[in-house]
Amino acid sequence: MSTYKDLAELIFPDVKLTIKDLEKRYPPRDLKEGAFVTRFAPSPTGFLHTGSLFTAMVAKKFASQSGGVYFFRLEDTDQKREIQGTGEDLVKQLKTFNVTADEGYFGNHDEGDYGPYQQSKRADIYKVVIKELMKKGRAYPCFCSKDELNELRMVQQANNVIPGYYGEYAKCRHYSVDEMIKMIKEGKNYVIRFKSKGNHLNHVTVHDMIRGDMELAENDQDIVILKSDGLPTYHFAHLVDDHFMRTNLVTRGEEWISSLPIHIELFETMNWEKPSYAHLPVIMVNDSETGNKRKLSKRKDKEAATSYFLQQGYPIKGFIEYLMTIANSNFESWLEQNINSSLDDFKLSFEKFSLDGALFDLPKLSNISKEYLSHLSKEKFTDEFLAWAEEYDKEVYTLVNNDRDYFEKIINIEREQEKPRKDYEKFSAVFDKISFFYSDYYDKKLNDPLPFSEFIDKEVISSFLLDFVSDLQRTLSMDENSWFSAMKEKGKKFNFADDRKEYKKNPEKYIGWYADCISLIRIAVCASTLSPKLYDTLQILQIDEIRRRIDKVIKKLQ
Ligand code: GLU
Repeated sequence: MSTYKDLAELIFPDVKLTIKDLEKRYPPRDLKEGAFVTRFAPSPTGFLHTGSLFTAMVAKKFASQSGGVYFFRLEDTDQKREIQGTGEDLVKQLKTFNVTADEGYFGNHDEGDYGPYQQSKRADIYKVVIKELMKKGRAYPCFCSKDELNELRMVQQANNVIPGYYGEYAKCRHYSVDEMIKMIKEGKNYVIRFKSKGNHLNHVTVHDMIRGDMELAENDQDIVILKSDGLPTYHFAHLVDDHFMRTNLVTRGEEWISSLPIHIELFETMNWEKPSYAHLPVIMVNDSETGNKRKLSKRKDKEAATSYFLQQGYPIKGFIEYLMTIANSNFESWLEQNINSSLDDFKLSFEKFSLDGALFDLPKLSNISKEYLSHLSKEKFTDEFLAWAEEYDKEVYTLVNNDRDYFEKIINIEREQEKPRKDYEKFSAVFDKISFFYSDYYDKKLNDPLPFSEFIDKEVISSFLLDFVSDLQRTLSMDENSWFSAMKEKGKKFNFADDRKEYKKNPEKYIGWYADCISLIRIAVCASTLSPKLYDTLQILQIDEIRRRIDKVIKKLQ
């Protein structure tokens, strides 16, 4: 009569290493008490999802703030779903968001002593563990075909019992080892399953760092651990990799909670210490059609891809800060108080994790970004802007890069002061607001009608503007307050009231009031009713260009 040991030797004749060898090769990490070893473990199946960035950011933060290690592991065991090149892309995209790993898979190479960090390269390691499980009679080959498994599902459905491969339904677990060996020798195809000892009528209590204790039904499924292609399933790879990479905190999406009983049984069977688990909330959105909350969807929501935010030019730090507000409910008030601090100074906590507040909120992102951008120095703003433009708007990049000082002056209007103006939420919105500073763009705007008030006569506008340029040299050299007074005086000459109350009292006596005459200058010089502070704008444009513009406008008015 053959034994499970014989079976293990038959299936894995080349596997000579033992678990002991692996324990030696991957020793416990030498870290201080309380340091977390975390990982981000994506599958290479597409772009970096906003939810994945969130998960990675959280994993990195828990590791770094505890003096631990955060690593990247590529989970590429499902080769049918793999999209070539996306593993490397994920690494690059994470780098853009500064969520770089301390060790792990880096695309073209690995860094660290616990590798390989790409699951498809770890087949030998998984086999060592499976061989030992099999020797103990806790793993067995399953010869069931797809059709047989489908049929099983149908029978279970018809009988209203829990679906799956377990207990009496797990046909292959009941074969004798001799029968198994015979079928293998006959060349029958098989996968390898774990032999569960659980019973789903029992409960297990599992602790989650965010959710506290959870009562779940014990696992009784004989899950597949090794597929016929020689690669493991997620559950088994999680067991082996997180053990030998010495992960002690698994941060992953809440969709994995239902698999926890499997993972618990696997760790307990191996007698390995379980990592702590923190199941993170899934990011939700309000569906614009139904008004209901739903998961952020790759198909429906542009916000699902992190590339959308890069292309729009949301500042990277602003975006990460926004994701932090989703993670911890106290982050926003911390940020208000610590606007210039590094994120490293904020301590992410399990207790403050928002569980149902993980709602993606674009207006909030805009506010945070505006706040962030408004506090940058002109140099830093320009650096970040140019880095964005170089990638996403070449024309603007060239223009700004040709005269960086000019751009810095423009975006410095009402910046670098105690309460800076919050003009910009993203880089793609910057140039539209300031393009009139550039002569070619201003001239193009003149092809459209200028938005002057229809209640003011064209002749009055022209005469006012002529008067405005007549002593430009003098007025431009004034300080701001004197300049305002001078403009008020000019307004009065043309019958603009110098205060609003007076104008409201006797509107028939005046053409408008002081703000209306300022607006004439703004429209003429900026070809828009909106502009940054006009005094500063004029100082930047300077006399010759202002004259040139006013000349053109007057001609256009004739
Ligand atoms: N590859 C799994 C996923 O992409 C990883 C889950 C985990 O972090 O354990 O969902």
